[in-house]
Amino acid sequence: MSEAPIVIKDPAGSRDNEVRPFQIEGMDVRGRAVRLGTVADQVLSAHNYPEPVARILGELLALAALLGSILKFEGIITIQTKSGGPIPMLVADFELKADGTGYLRGYADIDHDKLSTYGKNPSFHGMIGSKSGYLALTIDQGQDMERYQGIVDLKGETLSDVARNYFLNSEQTPTAMRLSCDRDPVTGHWRAGGIMVQHLARGETGRERILDRETEEHWNRASALMLSVKPEEMLDPQLDLDQLLYRLFNEDGVRVFEAAHLAKGCRCDRARLLTVLSQFSDDDIEHMTVDGNIGVNCQFCNKTWDFTPEEARGGTA
Ligand SMILES: [Zn+2]
Repeated sequence: MSEAPIVIKDPAGSRDNEVRPFQIEGMDVRGRAVRLGTVADQVLSAHNYPEPVARILGELLALAALLGSILKFEGIITIQTKSGGPIPMLVADFELKADGTGYLRGYADIDHDKLSTYGKNPSFHGMIGSKSGYLALTIDQGQDMERYQGIVDLKGETLSDVARNYFLNSEQTPTAMRLSCDRDPVTGHWRAGGIMVQHLARGETGRERILDRETEEHWNRASALMLSVKPEEMLDPQLDLDQLLYRLFNEDGVRVFEAAHLAKGCRCDRARLLTVLSQFSDDDIEHMTVDGNIGVNCQFCNKTWDFTPEEARGGTA
């Protein structure tokens, strides 16, 4: 018999790095809240990103955690933006493993020359280049399950706007969302957070969504309360998610469900990189060799893996 995995809680704050599902009493409204402490800091600090880029990537990590927490089985949710802006690509993914933990990673591809023309505090629009870009959501749950991909354009003032449009367009689900990422004013470490509520269709699947007067009032109220959340409340290490949910929804009552634990993760490994290297020609391998060594950098975690040219040519470790 295998032993149950031991989940080590975040040392800096007992309630960081988790997603908390909740439901507002008496309404067809469900939500999830996420708080990232060390996970956001480790992912964002692995690269020397300009601060505005790190903030957007942190928000994308929080979004990946919110969406990933709906996975029931092992699998991977990837959220990627592509555009002609100063950040041609932004990606975050969430992998649910058998231990029940969600592993997050992410990186930003930056066109530094372009970004430098946008001043010190570029807008989301400016950085992402919302005119031509899109956001793609991919859900991969292994070979037995069909791969799902949904796409939405990058219109909106914030990443939360884009995510809301995604739910409205692809799932016809009214959604309100806020995302935030910033450095802790005391420690300087990155923190990220997010909260979302969704209006559930009343009744069983297959029936029409009924948005009668009562449910519409409920939805308006729940989304207005949620949208009253302040960015600093989503990040405050002194205010855990349950306290935050109580603060927002205590008049109606809020019921919370078991939280999902989050950790930083990456899927780079020697065998996978060797498979990639084995596809290069001998000339390419020679070209990549510096002082008898081929260093391959993982763009997610920024770890460098070292190979000899013989290993690279042979395709074995
Ligand atoms: Zn890696």
